[in-house]
Amino acid sequence: MEIIALQTAVEKVPRIGTAYAKRLKKFGIKTVQDLLFYFPTRYDDFSEIISIKDAKQRLGDVVCVQGRITDIESSHTWKNFVNLTQVTIQDDTAEINVIWFNQPYLAKSLKEDNFICLAGKVSLGKDGLFFNSPAYERINDIGENDELTHTGRIVPVYSETRGVTSRWLRYIIKPLLYRFADQIQETLPKEIIKKYKFLPIQEAVWQLHFPDSFEHADAAKSRFSFEDIFLIQLNVLKEKIKLMQKKAAACPMNADLMKSFTDSLPFQLTDSQKKCAFAILKDLEKTVPMSRLLEGDVGSGKTVVATMAALNVVKCQHQVAFMAPTEILAKQHFRSVSEMLKNFDVSIGMMTGKDARISRKGETFEVSKKSFNGDLENKQIDIAIGTHSLIQKGVIFKDLALVILDEQHRFGVEQRDHLIKNKKIVPHLLSMTATPIPRTLALTVYGDLDLSLIDEMPANRKKIKTIIVEPAQRKEAYDFIRKEVEGGKGVFVIFPKIDSLATKAKEALEKNGPVTGSFVPQNYDLGRLGINEVKALKEEYERLSKEVFPDLRITMLHGKMKAAEKERIMLDFKKGEIDILLSTSVVEVGVDVPRATIMMIEGAERFGLSQLHQFRGRVGRSDMQSYCFLFTTDPSMLNRKRLKALVDSNNGFELAEKDLEIRGPGSLYGTQQWGVPDIAMQGLSNIFLVEKTRAAAKEILEKDPELKEYPELKERLKQFQTRIHFE
Ligand code: ADP
Ligand code: MG
Repeated sequence: MEIIALQTAVEKVPRIGTAYAKRLKKFGIKTVQDLLFYFPTRYDDFSEIISIKDAKQRLGDVVCVQGRITDIESSHTWKNFVNLTQVTIQDDTAEINVIWFNQPYLAKSLKEDNFICLAGKVSLGKDGLFFNSPAYERINDIGENDELTHTGRIVPVYSETRGVTSRWLRYIIKPLLYRFADQIQETLPKEIIKKYKFLPIQEAVWQLHFPDSFEHADAAKSRFSFEDIFLIQLNVLKEKIKLMQKKAAACPMNADLMKSFTDSLPFQLTDSQKKCAFAILKDLEKTVPMSRLLEGDVGSGKTVVATMAALNVVKCQHQVAFMAPTEILAKQHFRSVSEMLKNFDVSIGMMTGKDARISRKGETFEVSKKSFNGDLENKQIDIAIGTHSLIQKGVIFKDLALVILDEQHRFGVEQRDHLIKNKKIVPHLLSMTATPIPRTLALTVYGDLDLSLIDEMPANRKKIKTIIVEPAQRKEAYDFIRKEVEGGKGVFVIFPKIDSLATKAKEALEKNGPVTGSFVPQNYDLGRLGINEVKALKEEYERLSKEVFPDLRITMLHGKMKAAEKERIMLDFKKGEIDILLSTSVVEVGVDVPRATIMMIEGAERFGLSQLHQFRGRVGRSDMQSYCFLFTTDPSMLNRKRLKALVDSNNGFELAEKDLEIRGPGSLYGTQQWGVPDIAMQGLSNIFLVEKTRAAAKEILEKDPELKEYPELKERLKQFQTRIHFE
């Protein structure tokens, strides 16, 4: 027999083998230890065992009975479509019938005279009481030291995949727990376990899989919840300490300069903007690198605030990198920042993909990438605007003192490392986001960042009117659009997808020839069949430009287009040379077209509330009344409720909370991509837990910043870091 240990690969474990190991890999399970830490998502309460005679009083309840099989039969019914296994079991008090559908193997594994335990709902049929497809377990199989696994107890239910059932997982995990639970190393420091009266890790792992009671399961869960969030805290605080040990260029605030800048703007800053700008400018005066997140709803005016910081840094003779998530946005920032700074003698560069430009004193010219890089290295460019390509290898700033990240919740660890690794002097960091961050996340995932909030809108704004448009009102909406366009306004129409099913089917037909039996009708006309398909960009472009608005200027914009083309279209739209812009979600983030007053969204049910709110924020950017029309093909109540929330609220924070309430955690903040375990995810909404873990992490790190005294914790933290990535 092979010697196996916690770190043994699962394929070496008897009864798992390579086929199962492959399936387990889908869950990220590679070793015995991983398997022991694959926790159930819920439990079935099969803990009550009664005698068969008492089943009479328990109709509809979930209970267990135990008894001997007196009769077993397997047959095919209904023209062989359904296999039926019928069993009778008997205990000292009575007998009861049991049926299972389509589990023919049962007749092979269960035999007459076997003792079995059944767990399920007591049902009433025409022949009396019976169990319909209960969970079962052969008592004969249970070893001397074991107890029931699948019945007669609180039974764990795991998240499953094809071929990996909860039953199989229980069957595999339990013997491993017997053998290895004691070998699991404790990760939490002793003093924390004592202080919070946590179960030791070995016991907690057992109780989480096979709890003695629901209280035991909860106790185990809260221990791991704490542990995971504690690890996030350690991680984030360690990052912070690392950054605090670096130095940054101190840039004294030039109050006169800031005043002449704000005087040059065509509007007054809001109080919130002033407050946030001040906090940032104060941070920049220090030699400790700034790490600040500027949070503000769409349209609240974050770009101006960032531009003030950039101008101040430039006039202290340093360089600034300003990064946007998309090329469209980078180009827009380039134009608006150049415009705002045209009288301040600042040279502004832009690099996106193949495109490089420089703007000085209001004049813009194209340059080669090579000369752009040269200028950057010689400090001929003060502010460089672009996408993430700006901080790639080969792009060298002579003296980078501030990095601004737009629409980026968090700076990716790798990007940040790239900027600060092996450097004594590092740039200040300013991130900006329109995504509201709940307090629990501000204290965990964003715990290393200082927060500034722009919590008011520019005064000239009117509340956007949001309307759910019924199918019958479509024509009315079009008439309204026509009126707005005739008044010189711009209109966005957003589609959840580019092509319709019908187009895809048609393309497939042209390419592959007819496919018989395909579910898509070959005449491509789903509408005629009464299928109410969500409108798609390309078809609607045809329809709107040929039939509905043949006299208006309509253009399409989508992610598959070349960057230069997208830019030209956005510019034309901004200038008023396009009336109606049809687009996929590419306009979601940050595009600024003040003349646009209508945001019309097709298939609105396909988007989250926060995302819809972002779309809506594309209009209402001037003193003109703006509108948001929501079209939906899904009349369900849940969907109504969601869209109604959008009608009722113009506040991104409220909507984010609503999204959380209606769609549950994980719907928000891009949290799914983080790789945070479920247990931690649940804990992340518990402010008390979050505060406790933060205090505990601080305490430990103050005592022992390198975690020298806590080798297991240090190791666990390392594993954790490779798994999670907040961005
Ligand atoms: P966001 O915070 O969504 O990035 P922007 O920075 O793009 O918002 O600003 C949206 C629009 O509001 C821009 O056209 C900008 O010039 C304008 N703006 C910013 N601040 C003010 C203000 N205080 N008063 C009026 N308009 C403003
Ligand atoms: Mg913006």
